[in-house]
Amino acid sequence: MIFSIIQAVLFIAVSVFVFVNAFKAYKRIYRNIMLGQKQEINDNPKQRIKNVLLIAFGQKKMFRNLTPALLHLVIYVSFVITQVELIEVLLDGFTGQHRLIYHAVEGTFLGSFYVFVISFIEVLSLLTFGVTIAFLWRRNILKVPRFHKPEMKGWPTIDGNNILYIELTLITFIFMMNIGDGAKYFKETGHGYGFALSELLVPAFSSLPETVLTIMERIGWWGHILMVYFFLLYLPRSKHLHILLAFPNTYFSSLEPKGYISNMPAITKEIKLMMNPEAAAEPADANAAPVKFGAKDVFDLSWKNLLDAMSCTECGRCTAACPANQTGKLLSPRKIMMNTRDRLEEVSKIIDANNGEWKDDGKSLIGDEYVTVEELRACTTCNACVEECPVTISPLDIIVQLRRNLVMEESNAPAEWTTMFANMENNGAPWQFSQQDRLKWAEEG
Ligand code: SF4
Ligand code: SF4
Repeated sequence: MIFSIIQAVLFIAVSVFVFVNAFKAYKRIYRNIMLGQKQEINDNPKQRIKNVLLIAFGQKKMFRNLTPALLHLVIYVSFVITQVELIEVLLDGFTGQHRLIYHAVEGTFLGSFYVFVISFIEVLSLLTFGVTIAFLWRRNILKVPRFHKPEMKGWPTIDGNNILYIELTLITFIFMMNIGDGAKYFKETGHGYGFALSELLVPAFSSLPETVLTIMERIGWWGHILMVYFFLLYLPRSKHLHILLAFPNTYFSSLEPKGYISNMPAITKEIKLMMNPEAAAEPADANAAPVKFGAKDVFDLSWKNLLDAMSCTECGRCTAACPANQTGKLLSPRKIMMNTRDRLEEVSKIIDANNGEWKDDGKSLIGDEYVTVEELRACTTCNACVEECPVTISPLDIIVQLRRNLVMEESNAPAEWTTMFANMENNGAPWQFSQQDRLKWAEEG
């Protein structure tokens, strides 16, 4: 009895600590995303829900390549279904009971269903154990090229491996818990719980002293819940945040055709004035905010761009498909997303350190530390990265905005481009001939 009370108190204390800190971390992420510019996205909710079901839940884009898709599917389904067992672990923890749900439904139809569910989780967990080792092998021994691009050096590689180690440890604890518990139950009642896999090892373990089995089961139980709690606190610092953000990110993704690039209202107005000079007589709005072209830092991007950055899985499919990257250019769309997230984190730390106030640090997203001019100029605007992304991120949208800022605010463009821009402005075409002279070649002929 006293043991149950101590355990419940300890469990509640640990849980409160974890949930309070997790709440703060996720709230901070929301605050960071909302540092972006306003963007209204509320059209066509039916299509958006369909996209979430097909792309985020159904992982439709992953199935272009069957083997990794199936491996991901095992981990994904296992992640979702093992949360069912977690419900009982939490209930046991808060009440100081043991296998609360099992004993409540034991001997009934629901009891058989309970055994089926836990058995299913055990089978999935074993499969996941194998798949996790396959993933570690692919990353570290097979060295799939997209996992070893320059931007993956250091923390991104460590982070990718960490989650796989957490997964292996968690599954080990689940089996320790079920085997220790099953063997103890076997000693008491003459039969185990009947779970598909742990039950196979129960006879071998039931000869151990009860104290050893209790310790084994408790280590497994605490290890299980502590790994889950650790994961909850680790997630906001990891690329694996996409497990949560992939859903809203897919919902809010652009429904426009891939080639669509949004116009800048100020430029649209200029063009209209060029085409219809009489409209120039319209008085300018004296209170209008000064026009800023493109984006120089994370504040200038939209909240959706920042959500994209926070949702990136760092899988590198975009970079593997990028023609600029394939031909040896510096540009990697994955790096653009990682840079945007890193800069957002840097900005966030400054805001935290100054009681919620932003203090200019003299840096920006465009610059040697983050996205360089050379990278921005290398993009062909082909949309291959957008097409490939399994969680519907658009690195191109960020690239276009940064490049607009370079060209239109900084006048930072190669001479060839500047000549072309001047021709476009003066002649309505990239060539150096006036519109009136266009057909001259035919007359001369
Ligand atoms: S749009 Fe740009 S970044 Fe994306 S794949 Fe094409 S060249 Fe690469
Ligand atoms: S942008 Fe998409 S495809 Fe590229 S690394 Fe991130 S998740 Fe993968």
